[in-house]
This record gives sequence, structure tokens and C-alpha cells, in this order.
Amino acid sequence: MQFKAENCSSQLSTAYGGLSDARLEDFRLKTLTAAPAVDSVSNRYIAPTQAAKLHLYLHIPFCARRCSYCDFAIAVRRVIPLSEFIDGITAELKTRFNDGEIEPLTTVYLGGGTPSKLGPTGIRQLFERLRNTPGLTIAEDAEITMEANPEDITPEAAAEWAQAGINRLSIGAQSFHSVTLAWMHRTHDVDAVHRGMIAARTAGINNISIDLIFALPTDLERSWDSDLSMALSLHPDHISLYGLTVEPHTPLGRWAARGEVAEAPEERYAAEFLKAHKFLTTAGFEHYEVSNYAKSGKTSRHNSSYWGRSPYIGVGPSAHSFDGASRRWNEREYEPWRVKVSAAEDPIGGSELLTAANVLAEDVYLGLRTMNGLPVTIVDTETIAIWQKNGWAVLRKDRVTLTPEGWLRLDGLAAALTAIRSH
Ligand code: SF4
Repeated sequence: MQFKAENCSSQLSTAYGGLSDARLEDFRLKTLTAAPAVDSVSNRYIAPTQAAKLHLYLHIPFCARRCSYCDFAIAVRRVIPLSEFIDGITAELKTRFNDGEIEPLTTVYLGGGTPSKLGPTGIRQLFERLRNTPGLTIAEDAEITMEANPEDITPEAAAEWAQAGINRLSIGAQSFHSVTLAWMHRTHDVDAVHRGMIAARTAGINNISIDLIFALPTDLERSWDSDLSMALSLHPDHISLYGLTVEPHTPLGRWAARGEVAEAPEERYAAEFLKAHKFLTTAGFEHYEVSNYAKSGKTSRHNSSYWGRSPYIGVGPSAHSFDGASRRWNEREYEPWRVKVSAAEDPIGGSELLTAANVLAEDVYLGLRTMNGLPVTIVDTETIAIWQKNGWAVLRKDRVTLTPEGWLRLDGLAAALTAIRSH
């Protein structure tokens, strides 16, 4: 499930799915990595325009238990190995920021896993280490986001996080229906989101996002209307919506294999997606990316950097990085990552140099995900005219943007346009 773009506190955090598996299901919960732009006519690589603006992702893998739908790279721990983990992050930062002074980071994103499980002390210590890393500086106006599970957001913790520099929280609410929360194996109750938002705002954190999941089994008797209304009643600045998908190596995957549960049919998935669009845009949110809504000025700068193909550095187990031309990823599991960083080794797990074909496909896919859309070329004209006729796209000047109905067909439309541009 993850459109994933925003988070995983909820569990939707930083998925870096490749375009190759960009199926509709992936779009439900995953966030694509950024990719460099390519000249759509000549297929020639163009250096990213924001190369000087760096973004940092920190993966904090710890969770109290695995949520029923989650297939993220997590480490379930009753007791968080705080010192060990922060020492590991510190060691990796040294190996990754060893080329001297770089531009100040304009966004920092703590995803997971459950970053809020580091507690007030852990986050304070983590930022002390970050700020003491040679070559790493954080811009004064940087967006610093942390994914948080609702039950961790106490007044004391929120105050310490704000003091450390956190100025945006992404809260994994998922639902306001207690039966559904239990089914998801969530560790918070219905009221925890409200309590957490009050604590965060009291501490001065005034940019708050909420995650919700739709397309849930009807047996749960969860009302999508009610969950959307509850979310709005808390006055969030940003909302991320993820459609449930069944991943094989999860509790949900096992339940599905036994025939006890099934994914929602496409019709209900589409109906709930479109209902949310109408509901939230009527309430003043902009549907600025296929799975993300924001009040004016509150779009996620960090995730927008992925969709805008900016370079970013990822630190921590499973974290991905992108330098404008190639992508690398760290050891996925906590222990192999820890062993490498504690030996002062680069914890790299693999890397790939993007081909022109990769770049073209990602350029199209990422462009169509957002309200910014994609510049239209002469070869697209006929196809886009059909999309417009079907109500799937609109043309604004020289850019094409998908409508919500188009976003429901994102993978197919992106594949079609990629094929046309490849010839
Ligand atoms: S198990 Fe952890 S990472 Fe996965 S959804 Fe739950 S809180 Fe998020």
C-alpha cells in the first residue's frame, strides 16, 4: 500500500520503487525515487536544474510491531538500541559527507520504521550529531519532517523535537475506526491523533500531515466518509492517502493467501479515490500529487524533490540516494547495515546507472504524478488528445496534467506515452 510518498510512520515511508514495477498497485503506496530529466525529443540527458539543492533522508527502522499491511524495511524492537543506532548513523554520515563543504540541506526527512520511537532524547542526540558532521549544514529555512506514530507525540517529546529543529510532522493516523486500527496492528487508539496534534501545535510544530488508508475490506465496516471527516476536523495542513494493497510477506498477505481477505475491487478503489478528491478539494486542499493533498503553501518540499528529480542523500538501513545520474541503496536490513558502518565501511547494498530509457520512463511517470504535469512534445499530440477526450488529462499551455480519473490510470497512460516517446 503505498503510494508512498509521504510516510511510513504509517508505514508508508520512503519507498523507492523502480519504474519497472510501477503498476497501479505500486502507486497506491509507493513513492518513486527521483530521476534526472531527459530531453524528450532527443532523449539526451540534461543535468538536473536543482543540483545544488540537497535533500537528506534518514531511515529509522525501528517499530514496536509490524503492521498487518507493511512490507517495509523495519526492525521490530521492544527496546530501541539508541546509542548503537545513533553511532551507526554518525559513522555513515562521515562516510557520505566526506567531500568537503556542500550546499546547505534544504530539506531533511526522518522516515521509517518509526522515527518517533527514538523519543525526545534520541532525536535531540541525532540532530546534535547531524549538525556536528563536517561538510553538512542545514539551511536556516529548511523543511525538517519527521514521521511519527500518534502515541509517541507527548507534550514533552514534541517540545524536544521542536527544539531539535523538527518543523513538520507526518502522523500515521491511517483510520479513526478502532476495529480497523486493531486489524491493522496499529499501536494507537482513535483519540491519539488528536492528542498528538495538540501536543505538536502547542510545541510550535505547525505543519502537520496525516496519513489515511482507503480501499479497506468491507468486513471492517469502516466508513471512508467518516475517516475523511475526522481527519478534516483536526485541521491538518497536508493529507496523504494510500490505497491498501496486499504484499505477500506480510500478515495481510498471509490472510489473503488463506482466502480470509481480498483487495478491494478496482471499482471501489476508484470510487473511494474520487470521493476523497471531491471531499478534500471542496475543503480547500489542493490535490497536488496523486496521493497527496495540501493547504496553500504546505506541499511537502522533500517529497516534491523526488518528483522533481533533485539529488538526495539517503542514510540508514535501506535508504536510497540519487546524484542526478545514478542511484544507490544501502543494506536493507538493520544488522548488515550496522556491521558495515561500525567498521567504518560504506553500507552500500547496490547501485545502478540510469540508462536513457530509464530516465525517459521515469521522467514521464514522475511528471504525470504531479499537478505540475509534463511538457508536451509534438509526438504526444495525438495520444494526449485522446486522453483529453476521455477526461483523463488537461492541457495547460504546453504542459499536460492528469485529472483524478487519469491518475487512476497513471501506469497505463505513462507507459503509453513512454512508448511513443521512445520511437
Ligand atoms: S510496521 Fe512500522 S513502518 Fe510498517 S506501517 Fe507499521 S509503523 Fe510504519
